[in-house]
Amino acid sequence: MNKNRRIKNILLITIGVLLLIFGIVVGLLAGRMLSEEDVNETGAPEMAVEESGKIKASEPEREIAENGSIKIKETESGTHQSESFESGGTETKAETKSENRLPESTPGLTGAPEDTAAETSASATATTQASISPVRIVLDPGHDDSCSRNHPDLGFNEQDLNLKIAQACRDELETYAGVEVYLTREDGSCPDNGIGSGDVSGRTAYAQSVGADLFVSLHNNATGLGYPSDANGAEVYISVHSAFSDESRKLGEAILKELTSQVDLADRGVLTRVKPEKGCYDNGQVKDWYYLISTSVERGFPGIIVEHAFMDNPHDNAILKDDEQLKAMGIADATGIAAYFGLERISK
Ligand SMILES: [Zn+2]
Repeated sequence: MNKNRRIKNILLITIGVLLLIFGIVVGLLAGRMLSEEDVNETGAPEMAVEESGKIKASEPEREIAENGSIKIKETESGTHQSESFESGGTETKAETKSENRLPESTPGLTGAPEDTAAETSASATATTQASISPVRIVLDPGHDDSCSRNHPDLGFNEQDLNLKIAQACRDELETYAGVEVYLTREDGSCPDNGIGSGDVSGRTAYAQSVGADLFVSLHNNATGLGYPSDANGAEVYISVHSAFSDESRKLGEAILKELTSQVDLADRGVLTRVKPEKGCYDNGQVKDWYYLISTSVERGFPGIIVEHAFMDNPHDNAILKDDEQLKAMGIADATGIAAYFGLERISK
C-alpha cells in the first residue's frame, strides 16, 4: 500500500510539475503571441514611430534649440507665433500711438463703457494720461510784420489773416476740456526771439519749449502768379515721416472736413512735399519740404500746415476779406482738431 501511495504521489507530483511546466510554456507562448499580435497589428507604424518618430521628434527640437534652424512642426508654430506676435505688436503700437495722440479720445470715438477688460485697462491708461497732462496744441499764425517772409499785398496781409484765424481757433478750442492752447505770436511781432530773423524753426522751438503734442501752422495760399488765379480751396500739408504721417493724415482730413463744410472752400486734400536737398531723417526718409514740418518732426511732435484759401483767387479772396469768415475758419480748424482728439466740450 505504501508503495502504491508513493507511486501515486510521485505521479501526482509529476503531473503537477508537468502541468506547471505546461502552464508556464503556454503562458510564455501566449505572451509571445500577444506581443507578436500587437507588433503585427500596429507593427509597422509603431516601429516607424519608435524608430523614426522619436528621432524626428527629437532631432529637429535639438536643431531648433541649438542653431535655431527652422523645421517641421516647430517651424510652423514658430512662424505663426512670430506672425501673431508681430501683428499683436503692431496693434499695440497703433493703440499706443492713438493713445498718445488721442488722450481724451476714448469716450467720443469708441464708446468706452462697453470696452473689454483689455481695452478698459488701455483706455484707463489713456484717461489717466489725459487727466494728468492735457493735449498741448501750439497754433502758429504764419508770418509776422517784421522777421518772417510775407506774401504780396492783395487787399490784406497774410499774417493778419492768419492771426485772426488762429485766435478764433484758440478761443474755440478752449471751450473743450483736456486741452492747452499756445500761440507763437499774439500780434504782428516776430516770434523768433533769440533764434534769428526769418528762421521759422524758432516757432517750432517755442512749441518744443511748451511741450507741444501738436504744432499747427495756419496760413493762406497764393499761386505767386498774381491776381486773379484759378487755384482755390483749402489744403493741409503733413509730414512724410512714418512716425507721424498716418495720424497727421487723419487730423488733416478732420480739419478739411470742417473747413469745407463750414466755409465755402474747395477741398484740395491732405498733401506731402519732400526736399531731398535737406537730407534724411534718422529713419532714412527724405525730409519734408517745409521747415515748420521737418523741424517739428526733429523736435519730436507732428507739425502740419493748414493753407485755408488762395489769396489771389477771386472767390477765396472775397471770403478772406470777411472777418466772420476768418472766424468761421478758425472755428472749423478747432472743430476738426477737437474731433480728431475726441475732445469733449466743457460743461457749463
Ligand atoms: Zn503763408
